[in-house]
Amino acid sequence: MRIGALSVRARLTLWHAGVLTLVICVFAGGVLLFVRARLYRALDDQIRADLATIDRVYREETGDLGELAVRMGTRFEVTEGATVIYRTTGWPPVGTAPFRQGTMADATHRIAVARDEGPVRQTLWTLAVIMATAIPCAVGLAVAGGYLLAGRMLAPVGTLADTARKITAESLSARLPVANPGDEFGRLAAVFNDTLARLDAAFEQLRRFTADASHELRTPLTAIRSVGEVALQRSLSAEGYREVVGSMLEEVDRLTRLVENLLLLTRAEAGRIPLTRVTVDLRELVAAVSDGLRVLAEEKDQDLTVQLAGGVTAHCDAGVLRLGITNLLYNAIKYTPQHGVIRVAATSTVGGDAVIEVQDTGPGIPAADHQRVFERFYRADHARSRQTGGTGLGLAIARWAVEANGGRIELESLEGRGTLFRVVLPRS
Ligand code: ADP
Repeated sequence: MRIGALSVRARLTLWHAGVLTLVICVFAGGVLLFVRARLYRALDDQIRADLATIDRVYREETGDLGELAVRMGTRFEVTEGATVIYRTTGWPPVGTAPFRQGTMADATHRIAVARDEGPVRQTLWTLAVIMATAIPCAVGLAVAGGYLLAGRMLAPVGTLADTARKITAESLSARLPVANPGDEFGRLAAVFNDTLARLDAAFEQLRRFTADASHELRTPLTAIRSVGEVALQRSLSAEGYREVVGSMLEEVDRLTRLVENLLLLTRAEAGRIPLTRVTVDLRELVAAVSDGLRVLAEEKDQDLTVQLAGGVTAHCDAGVLRLGITNLLYNAIKYTPQHGVIRVAATSTVGGDAVIEVQDTGPGIPAADHQRVFERFYRADHARSRQTGGTGLGLAIARWAVEANGGRIELESLEGRGTLFRVVLPRS
């Protein structure tokens, strides 16, 4: 079986055991060599001491060599040239037990000593046997310990996998347990949890969007249906039918706008609306938007003021930006009551950013809704907005139109006092 095919636990244990065995063997070999060198050095020291003692006795009292041989229990030989002065029994010590020899020679005589190295070999052998039995035991213990430890260390991974398996689209709000946020598994779980949170938010948004869109589509459809049903129940004059058809067409208009806006937003979010950014004179753009919507303001007797500074330009897609500004101004006219005042201005900041402001004296937007009014289908005042025929997509489109051009929309509003939308397009 390939190592790679084994479980992480088994692989960790094998690596651990392998490395440990190697380290212990190297250590044991080192210890044996060291002890061996020590023991032989001690033996050589003894042989040197023997040689010195024999030399001294030979020089002082050659006759005592026999007595010395008995006392020392060492085998030795003293020769003068070819003449043997003294030789212990069992000399030369060959063919018998292992012996270590040492010699000393000068002009007159030569001394040779041999010491039995059996005890040294015995000691080394005993040490080797101890190690040979102890090493497998130690490795066995280490493998068992390593296996247990690896199991314990890896247990969180199993828990993570089990919990992750249980998480489905329906239970995206569940999170993985983070036992220790500082360790590797904790960080892994945290990253996974972040991903889950994003998925959860995306799913939630999708769910909300689907619910909202169905609701928005159903409302005009229900209206068309009930108007039709009521008309069918009675016979009406030609004028009456015209009125019925007229109100049905109004709802169809609303449906059409809704579907078109939805399509636009979907394509915009998928990045499928190509922008052609050129230098655009914002004075012209704002003037054109105001002129286009002026008739709506006049219908409500509103005072629409347009303030245009010269030389305000931005690097943007004129068509897309125009759509955004149109939505802002359209909202201002729509939500501001009769005789209200609406101001549209195009200026530039000291830093060279272009600024377009759309301000009204309408009902304002509660502070709590400032972020949310830009969401799709969100309405600060549900009843009022629907009455005015809004689709709830105007500000979402406006925000996309401005942000796609590299700008941002700011909102300042006080409830009951009016609203100011400020579009800032940074200097290119
Ligand atoms: P709608 O089609 O409902 O107008 P929008 O996305 O254009 O949708 O606007 C979202 C909500 O923001 C509106 O329903 C309304 O409550 C609020 N709103 C937008 N513009 C204004 C404004 N100028 N004055 C007051 N409320 C506004």
